[in-house]
Amino acid sequence: MPDTASRTEKLGLVLRRLRDQGPRSRARLAEELDLSRSAVSGLVAELEDFGLVRTGGVERGGLGRPGTAVELDGSRVCGLGAEISVNHVATVALDLRGRVVAEHRESVDASRLSVSEVLDHLAALIARTEDEVHAAAAQVVGLGVGVAGLVDRTRDVLTLGPNLGWRDVPLGAELRGRLGAAYPVLLDNEGNLAATAEALPGDPARQDLLVLFGEVGLGGGIVADGRLLRGRQGYAGEIGHMIVDPGGRRCGCGRIGCWETVCGLRALMGAAADPDDPVRDPALSIDDRLAEIDRRAALGDTRTVAALDQVGGWLGIGAGILTNALNPGAVVLSGYYAALGRHLLPAMEQQLAAGVVAPQVGGTRVVVSTLGFAAAVHGGATVVLDTVFHDPTIVARPPAAVPGGAR
Ligand SMILES: [Zn+2]
Repeated sequence: MPDTASRTEKLGLVLRRLRDQGPRSRARLAEELDLSRSAVSGLVAELEDFGLVRTGGVERGGLGRPGTAVELDGSRVCGLGAEISVNHVATVALDLRGRVVAEHRESVDASRLSVSEVLDHLAALIARTEDEVHAAAAQVVGLGVGVAGLVDRTRDVLTLGPNLGWRDVPLGAELRGRLGAAYPVLLDNEGNLAATAEALPGDPARQDLLVLFGEVGLGGGIVADGRLLRGRQGYAGEIGHMIVDPGGRRCGCGRIGCWETVCGLRALMGAAADPDDPVRDPALSIDDRLAEIDRRAALGDTRTVAALDQVGGWLGIGAGILTNALNPGAVVLSGYYAALGRHLLPAMEQQLAAGVVAPQVGGTRVVVSTLGFAAAVHGGATVVLDTVFHDPTIVARPPAAVPGGAR
């Protein structure tokens, strides 16, 4: 650690080390971060003042004499995540340790509601989530909102939501106005946020990822060397609009044959069921609809199995193109793909192996997300919590703590 590092940077460094590597003694922190023991003691005391860490317990597995372990205290701050999707709005509150404090999802049919009505539903859900955070005696440090579409983050505007049918909507301002929030509100593409949630700090197998977030469309996010790839204007990751089927179906974006036209939820449902089948009714819970598809596939229903094979095959073809370009450690099946992963994997892996030029698929594994649809909201909360891990001083101190008090 260079001497020139600011105190804020050092506080963040200690906090991130505890997040990424788990509880450890002050002596071990000092050694690992190349700081003096007295410096670490001062930093830990300050983080305790903020209510972000606590001491207690004995460090296990360290060398020499066991020391008192310092660990993250998750209870005082929460990040909020929210999502605007074609078929639902959703929220989550995660504490500093990433544990779920509150979680909600409400089915909406955005194609039948105005922008204003959808935002009213979301704002009510956020307010409810915030109340639950306050009831748990924690503070909200920010809100990260994912939306199904292209986001201009410099203006906080949804430039284009092909499946929402929205264009140039100032979502950031609209939401801030409804919430009257005292905390920062960040807007991003839901695929980017899903990718952020899947990239686990400290896990070497989760630093280079291609995340496929299945929704009505196909959102995506690319994590390279632990960082989300954004590109020149922030529109990287629009992999759902790679044209893989020229001469195929028209996409919500206006083009013909985009990847999501053959493997978005709309494509799957269209192939698996007739229009009047309840699994295609957007008013019903998406979990129930997917559970029904899963049940039919498990029973060997011919039409369902064929539809899943078809979507799985297309997933493998697109993932093969991207794997040749990116050589990710893992392709993560998220969103609706997570619920049906076991049925999609065989056809997908076959096409992926056929499409990738590197031996043994370049070491790329296909993994099924444990977060599923919740990946986007988890990513939103993770992004705002990350601001605390880089500047712990943005957190309000507990009333009892004296700023700059005795160390
Ligand atoms: Zn498209």
